[in-house]
Amino acid sequence: MSSSLILIIALSVLHVAVFSLMLWIRFRRDEANGAGRETAKVRLCAVCREPATYLGYDGLDPHEQRHPDTGRPYSVNAAHYQPLCAAHC
Ligand SMILES: [Zn+2]
Repeated sequence: MSSSLILIIALSVLHVAVFSLMLWIRFRRDEANGAGRETAKVRLCAVCREPATYLGYDGLDPHEQRHPDTGRPYSVNAAHYQPLCAAHC
C-alpha cells in the first residue's frame, strides 16, 4: 500500500468525523431550542377548549408593560397568561 493512499483514506475518515460532529452540534442546538420554547401543550384553550398551543396575555394586569419594539402590552406576572389555541391567540 502506498503512503499517498493511506493519506487519502486518513483524510476521508477525518472529513466524515468532522461532518458527523457538525451534524451532532446542530442537532443538539435544535433540541435545546425546542426545550426552551414556552408552550402549553397539555392545556386547553380558554375560549373554545381545544388543545392550546400558546400562552396569551389576558390584558388585565394593572402593572402591565409595553414591549419597546413592538408596542404590544405584556405582563411579568405569569398569572395573567392563559392557554389559547392557534385560532384565538
Ligand atoms: Zn380556541
